[in-house]
Amino acid sequence: MKFFYEVLNIFRPAKNMDFKKVQPTNPNARGIPVPNFKKGTSCLECKACEKVCPTKGIEIVSAKEIVFDYGACLQCGLCAEACGDDKIENSGFIHAYSVDRKALVVSYVDGIPTEYSENVSENVNAFRKITRNTGFQYREVAASGNNSTEAEINASFNAVFDSEASMVRVVASPKHADALVYAGPVGSNMEVPLQIAWDTMPETKALIACGTEAVSGGLFELGKLPKEPDLFIGGDPPRPDVMISAFRYLMGSRKYSFREELSKFVEGRKKH
Ligand code: SF4
Ligand code: SF4
Repeated sequence: MKFFYEVLNIFRPAKNMDFKKVQPTNPNARGIPVPNFKKGTSCLECKACEKVCPTKGIEIVSAKEIVFDYGACLQCGLCAEACGDDKIENSGFIHAYSVDRKALVVSYVDGIPTEYSENVSENVNAFRKITRNTGFQYREVAASGNNSTEAEINASFNAVFDSEASMVRVVASPKHADALVYAGPVGSNMEVPLQIAWDTMPETKALIACGTEAVSGGLFELGKLPKEPDLFIGGDPPRPDVMISAFRYLMGSRKYSFREELSKFVEGRKKH
């Protein structure tokens, strides 16, 4: 009888969710703000976007040049709202991550991002050597954030995003971890626990700043870190698919350059 039901189950329609049809993320996410080529009020006389940005992530350098720090950007959309000339658009582009913090600071001249080659540190190269084919395991430290990044880290392991299929696992102890992921601006009470977790880990290891608060402090001042992070992931919080892509880029199993992709993206928008 048991055998009969097992055969029957092969032909029964599945009752679980069809993940191919599920929209896992909001297709209308604002993403990072990007300036366009429209003429209008001189930015030097206006500076409304600079004033309204809650994290001081915008600098108007001249009438032609505007700088966005995407490591400080919460993707809140306030700057686009503040611009009466529609010179800033919410791009929908959300893959704001790099192994080089400077790459997230983008200067646009006449709406075109200036060229920049990301620097890859010796530690990142060493980390890639040992994790490219095997993946890595990380311990997460909630460092004074609002837990939104932790919620997305949890989601990265669900059946939709399936982090382990990309060879990235969470472990309970830093003793077993290759990488330390922290989220939040690292308040003074979390500086020592973060340092202890880092010191407990075996070499070779990587430090990952996950989310805008971890990269720059966001609305707060960034606390003391054990070292310069090896990967900076912008977004408040970053989406699970963005985190997994960034992890794969860190381990070298996926090629990516934030600056190149941003330039292509801006070029593509110009044509439309
Ligand atoms: S709000 Fe618009 S016009 Fe004003 S400085 Fe910013 S981009 Fe320029
Ligand atoms: S934090 Fe908000 S206001 Fe500041 S650059 Fe980002 S989207 Fe614009």
